[in-house]
Amino acid sequence: MAVQTHKLSAESVRNQLQKNQNLLAVSKLQPVEKMIELNKQGQIHFGENYVQEALDKIEILSTTNIQWHLIGPLQKNKVKYLKNKFAYIHSVDSFELAELISKKSAEMNHVQKVFLQINLSNEISKSGFNEISVMQNWKKLSELNAIQIVGLMTMPPLQNNPEENRIYFKKCFEIGKKLNLHEFSMGTSHDYLVALQEGSTWIRLGTILFGERHTT
Ligand SMILES: *Cc1c(COP(=O)(O)O)cnc(C)c1O
Repeated sequence: MAVQTHKLSAESVRNQLQKNQNLLAVSKLQPVEKMIELNKQGQIHFGENYVQEALDKIEILSTTNIQWHLIGPLQKNKVKYLKNKFAYIHSVDSFELAELISKKSAEMNHVQKVFLQINLSNEISKSGFNEISVMQNWKKLSELNAIQIVGLMTMPPLQNNPEENRIYFKKCFEIGKKLNLHEFSMGTSHDYLVALQEGSTWIRLGTILFGERHTT
C-alpha cells in the first residue's frame, strides 16, 4: 500500500492563523504548475532555497502577484543576482553577508527586508548567528542602511518529536524581543504548531502543502 502524505490546503492553514501570523509556501523543487494552483487559491508568499531555481520561477511567474522569499543558504557571490526581486531574505547568516546585501541594494536605491538566521543548536552544518554573536554584531548590523532587519529566522534540527524544538523557538523569540524585533520565521511542516505557540509570525511549510519534493 502506498504511503499517503498527509496534506493540508494552504487555505485551511491560513484560516487557522492569527492576524500577525503568515504562511510561507516553500516551493523549492516543486513544479510551477503546483505553485500556480496555490496562487489561484489565494497564496501569495512563496519561499525558495536555490537562487537559480528561484530566478527562473520569478521569470515564469512574473505576471502573478507572488511575493518571493529567499530562505536557503545564500553565497556571497550570488547576491548580485538577487536585485530587488525578493520581498524578504530569511537566511542572512553573517555580518559580511548583511553588509554585502546592503551595499547591493543601496546601489539600486532599495531597502531589502531581511531576517537574521539564528543557529541555536550549534550544528556545524548550519550557519547563522548564535545568541552571543548576534548581540555582538547588532550595532554594526543596525547601522547598515539599505537593509531592514525585520526579525529572526531559525531552523532547528529535525527531531522526531516536534516538542524537542520548542526550546529553540522559545530562545529565538527571546533573543528577538531583546532586540525589539517583531517577526519570527520559525516552523516547518514538521513542527509549525509548536513554532506558532512560541511566537512564530512566518511558518515555512513545504511538504505538508505540496507533497514530497522532486529531488532530481
Ligand atoms: C525546505 C525548507 C522548509 C520546508 O520544509 P518542509 O519540511 O517541507 O515543510 C522550511 N524552511 C527551510 C529553510 C527549508 O529549507
